[in-house]
Amino acid sequence: MASVRDKFELHQQLKGAVGELCRGFPDSYWRDLDAGRAYPEAFVKALTRAGYMATLIPEEYGGAGLGVAEAAVILEEVHRSGGNAAACHAQMYIMGTVLRHGSEAQKKKYLPAIARGDLRLQAFGVSEPTTGSDTTQIKTIAARRGDTYVVKGQKIWISRAEHSDLMLLIARTTPLEQVKKRTEGLSVLLVDLRQAAGHGLTIRPIRTMMNHATTEVFFDGVEVPADSLIGEEGQGFRYLLDGLNAERILIAAECIGDGRWFLERACRYAKERVVFSRPIGQNQGVQFPLARAYANVEAAALMVAHAAQLFDSHQPCGAQANMAKLLAADASWESANAAVQTHGGFGFAEEYDIERKFRETRLYQVAPVSTNLILAYIAEHVLGLPRSY
Ligand SMILES: Cc1cc2nc3c(=O)[nH]c(=O)nc-3n(C[C@H](O)[C@H](O)[C@H](O)COP(=O)(O)OP(=O)(O)OC[C@H]3O[C@@H](n4cnc5c(N)ncnc54)[C@H](O)[C@@H]3O)c2cc1C
Repeated sequence: MASVRDKFELHQQLKGAVGELCRGFPDSYWRDLDAGRAYPEAFVKALTRAGYMATLIPEEYGGAGLGVAEAAVILEEVHRSGGNAAACHAQMYIMGTVLRHGSEAQKKKYLPAIARGDLRLQAFGVSEPTTGSDTTQIKTIAARRGDTYVVKGQKIWISRAEHSDLMLLIARTTPLEQVKKRTEGLSVLLVDLRQAAGHGLTIRPIRTMMNHATTEVFFDGVEVPADSLIGEEGQGFRYLLDGLNAERILIAAECIGDGRWFLERACRYAKERVVFSRPIGQNQGVQFPLARAYANVEAAALMVAHAAQLFDSHQPCGAQANMAKLLAADASWESANAAVQTHGGFGFAEEYDIERKFRETRLYQVAPVSTNLILAYIAEHVLGLPRSY
């Protein structure tokens, strides 16, 4: 087992190397993509080539065999450098479902190809237009017919579907009326989007307030080979929950990166901008919101590190992963607001990038899980209060 010192050194090395890679993708790169709502193909390729997208894939399948703590360092650094890992972060945590619940044949087929960058597993198909946060109510059906599942239904907000070869799809294999518990009867399928294209699958991009390559996906009788089922039929909800902690910790790490980026930019500007014959940063009215946001980012970073450490040592971490996501998303949003305020009018100018990152970090109050749902989780599962939903 690596000592604390070894871990610290590994994290410093990773941070330095990722920072170096990100310097090749400056503000102007992200700004231009944002203006055209274009996918950061060159950035994703560079991150994949350098092996970072395979951080969590075990060495026996060609990956780096590192933990969520290391993946968090990588994603945080991308965001701290002004970039946005939302274009590719899902591969890191979706892959975990295949790793933990897939058969040996599925792992051998997919993981080495994902690690090499020959296959992209970037799309995660959970959300639906009429079910909202209540995943057990999803309407997409996968009906078994011989050697195939026939998938019918609609997903929404499925990010990166146009840029992924595979989608981890959650669908109902047993109708809700026929199960004892509403969490039963859901299954996870690994859908090959290349095969499904033109055979009942339609992907429609949704234009959002930030550059996020998200889509609506329609399944009109898409035939998926039965051997694409991950784990046991009907147990998909359990597999889904089990992957959510990693997702929450990693997105929280991105929020920490955003928070640090906002504060670095805001402090730099506050020292340079002179109004009433002195730097604006000399006024406590400008300093205090930045100092408070800094304290909150650093506190949230400790919770992210704590949750990652629990996750990597296979201990229960649902509460910590949820709290990390809540605190980090709040801290990045607070930092974003403070950065806009510090920049005054220039906070709204595209060339300063504050407004772009402000739009980007706002997402994390809502996705992948909304703040209210995290508070409801803490109230029920940590504080023992009655279930409120
Ligand atoms: C840009 C973007 C990318 C996304 N990418 C993906 C993706 O790749 N794959 C995927 O499957 N999904 C994705 N999502 C979906 C995302 O996970 C959901 O938007 C999110 O979980 C919230 O669900 P909802 O939008 O249906 O909101 P709803 O569930 O309709 O909730 C709306 C509001 O009501 C509140 N609310 C609902 N119920 C309660 C309650 N009981 N108590 C208190 N408040 C409540 C919520 O907190 C929220 O503020 C993405 C969303 C966006 C915007």
